[in-house]
Amino acid sequence: THFGYKTVPEHEKQKMVHEVFRNVADKYDLMNDLMSGTMHRIWKDQMIGDHYRPQIGGTYLDVAGGTGDVAFRIAEYLKRQHLNAPNSGLTSRVIVSDINANMLEVGRQKSIELNLHKWEHHGVKLDWLEGNAEDLSETIPDRSIDGYTIAFGIRNVTHIDKAIKEAHRVLKPGGQFLCLEFSQVYPIALRQFYDWYSFNIIPKIGQVVANDHDSYQYLVESIRQFPPQERFKQMIQDAGFKNVRYTSLTFGVVALHSGIKL
Ligand code: SAM
Repeated sequence: THFGYKTVPEHEKQKMVHEVFRNVADKYDLMNDLMSGTMHRIWKDQMIGDHYRPQIGGTYLDVAGGTGDVAFRIAEYLKRQHLNAPNSGLTSRVIVSDINANMLEVGRQKSIELNLHKWEHHGVKLDWLEGNAEDLSETIPDRSIDGYTIAFGIRNVTHIDKAIKEAHRVLKPGGQFLCLEFSQVYPIALRQFYDWYSFNIIPKIGQVVANDHDSYQYLVESIRQFPPQERFKQMIQDAGFKNVRYTSLTFGVVALHSGIKL
């Protein structure tokens, strides 16, 4: 147990995660802004702007993509490249995959508001796909993906090792795995403040804004249970990835891990 809260048994985790994200889907974006003080936008910008280089004509998969934040950044990045190469004749694909149809639906609506569904004229095609990160075999063939991203998603997956193996399976040789996730805060004094904030403030914001204290309590707990930087790096290596490295952002509140499939 962590701070007296009960850990969710493995066989119940997936069901519970599904319920959490069904409950929060409508308020998801607002809650992210409130809880992180909009920092999540900066982390996602850094993820796609600094650590990911999608190429036009490629297929990019964003797993646990939720309401599309990361996929939209990838699409934007690709669109700029297409505008610079108007006669390439290539189509780039961005696939948003998530286990929860409610989250995807919010994302799809957002993409319409942002006019992203019209970007096909610019050569960028966006697809939405329901699927479990642990097993994408029904929809995503082996070695078919140029880049795999997952942001704030992998800690929700019941078997993290399976999800990383699955990432390895779908990637083409040379393809990049890139994961943004909450991680371990350092130094300790800051971690104490962060723990206090997470366990006392976040569930309260969840209560007031989303009328859902428990979902946000789960989220905080799941963050504490996720392996720290070095251990997660080892898990990515164990799945067969090479050149595995990580960068801690904001004192390790989050970390970006990447690896290459050879
Ligand atoms: N990537 C988005 C972002 O950064 O805003 C969404 C992150 S949200 C915190 C976590 C997402 O993981 C939810 O949309 C949830 O439905 C999804 N998820 C949970 N378990 C999953 C699984 N086993 N396979 C795929 N997606 C899953």
